This record gives sequence, structure tokens and C-alpha cells, in this order.
Amino acid sequence: QPTSLHRGRFAPSPTGPLHLGSLVAALGSWLIARRAGGQWLVRIEDLDPPREVAGAADAQLAALHAFGLHPDGAVVRQSDRGHLYQAALETLLSRGNAFVCHCSRRDLLESNGIHRACVPRARRDDPAIRLRVHAGTRVAFDDGFHGRVEQDLEREVGDFVLRRADGLWAYQLAVVVDDAAQGITDVVRGADLLASTPRQILLQQRLGLPTPRHAHLPLVLDPDGRKLSKTLESLPIDGRDPIPALRTAWRLLGQPPEALERSATLAEALATATAAFDPSRVPRTPGDLLAAPHNGL
Ligand code: GLU
Repeated sequence: QPTSLHRGRFAPSPTGPLHLGSLVAALGSWLIARRAGGQWLVRIEDLDPPREVAGAADAQLAALHAFGLHPDGAVVRQSDRGHLYQAALETLLSRGNAFVCHCSRRDLLESNGIHRACVPRARRDDPAIRLRVHAGTRVAFDDGFHGRVEQDLEREVGDFVLRRADGLWAYQLAVVVDDAAQGITDVVRGADLLASTPRQILLQQRLGLPTPRHAHLPLVLDPDGRKLSKTLESLPIDGRDPIPALRTAWRLLGQPPEALERSATLAEALATATAAFDPSRVPRTPGDLLAAPHNGL
């Protein structure tokens, strides 16, 4: 079945409206899936109620619809899937891969927030659960755009959180469980998540899950190659008039603007984009992306 060869996804967190940065990730993952003759799914990553903005998930889905980016299957929401994360956590605990941790942020100040051994000053009522990362744990993978990426997880990340002290699920665990459960073969997402990928690969190995291919799309850069200001990247996009924003996202994916100049309708623009998309033109994001651990613990 050719469709099983490529299944991609777009997985927004409902922390605000769809913005230009997320449109680039949505369009990029969609184009790559379409070109591969594969499928493309949408997952709402609503793991963190305190950071969630009411109505944002529905607004993001409406915006995707307005841009003609329709998922090839039901949209799932992480808030419905706690039982799957719990089962994975129990597997890791029972195998001795995960442990209960009473350390507070303050306890870890001396090691720059990196956990390598428990040093709690006090027992907490609400301990976190972390994955044990042994000395010498290196993870490497070949990124579709960035080439070989390697990280020494023990030195650079340490034992990382799977379930937070406040009881919320960590992004790292949920995304691994869901990508496997949804049969995702290709993770195409923003380069801000490049530093999370080695943790996710380690979790896949610990859980006996397949590792998908990875390709990290460029962050939205200004013409001088600097990362766009948060305000510009987070500019909400107008789903009522999708073609201009679609052209901007297309250009930010490194694609020639002329290709979409003559497309008058959305359907035409998407069909032209699918035929003309050239992954080798996608800009490689400069900088030390691996140095920035994902803050969505
Ligand atoms: N929900 C994450 C975010 O919006 C993306 C997760 C992913 O694509 O793996 O930053």
C-alpha cells in the first residue's frame, strides 16, 4: 500500500491562533506528504491547560481548513490520550528506565538544571518522573534537511521529565507515544524542535517503538538570515484571504515566488505548489539549535 510509506503530521499546541511560523510547518509537512503520495494527519497537542488559550484549537483547525490543508483522518487531541501515556510510563517504570524524582528546580541549580542524580533537599508530595539517561548515551540521526545530528544526552540534557511534578504529561513522552500510535513515518516540523529529537529517539528505543524519519523546517528568518522577531513570526494569519499568506509561507520554504504568482484560486495554488515544491531549496537554519532544549517539559 503506497500510502503506508509516508505518513506525516502537523501537531500544533493550542496556545494561540495559527501564525506564520506554524503555517510554514503545516504547509511544509503537507507538501512533503503530498509529494510522497502519503497521508497527513493533524494532532492537537493540548497537554498544558495553563498555557492553553480557550478556542485556539478550533481556530487553528478552522485556519488549516481555510488554507485547504485537510487531514487524511480524524484529528486527535492529546488531552484524550492520557491512558496511552500512562501505559508507556508504567512500561518504563517497570523496566527501571524511569524513576520518581523529588528534586526541585532549586536542587538542580548547581548543575544548570541538568539532572544526573537525585539531590533533593526535601521529599515532595508531588514528585516528577524522569527517564534515566546513562553516561555515554549518544543519539545520532540523519535529518532530511540538516544532515547528521548528534547529541550527548547525558551531558547536554540529563535525566529528563516524563511526567511533571504538577501531574501534567511531558511533551517528549506524549509526542513519542502518539507518533507511534498514529503510525507516523515522517516527522516534519520546525527546527526549534531539533534539540528535542534525540530525546524522542531515545524514548522510542526504550519503548521498543520505531523511529520515524525526521526533517526540521527552517525557522522563519528575515532577509539577513536572522530569526524573525517573535512578534513577526507569531503574526496571526488571515484565513479569509489565504493566498497571500500561502505565498509568504511558500517563499519562507525557499521556493521561487514566481511559481505561485499566477494561481488565482486556493486549489490552483496548492496544486501548483505540490507539483513545484523542491525540498533541496528549503533553507538550512543556521545556528546552534541543539543548544536550545525544548522548554515544553
Ligand atoms: N506541539 C509542538 C509545538 O507546537 C510541536 C510538536 C511536534 O511537531 O513534534 O511546538
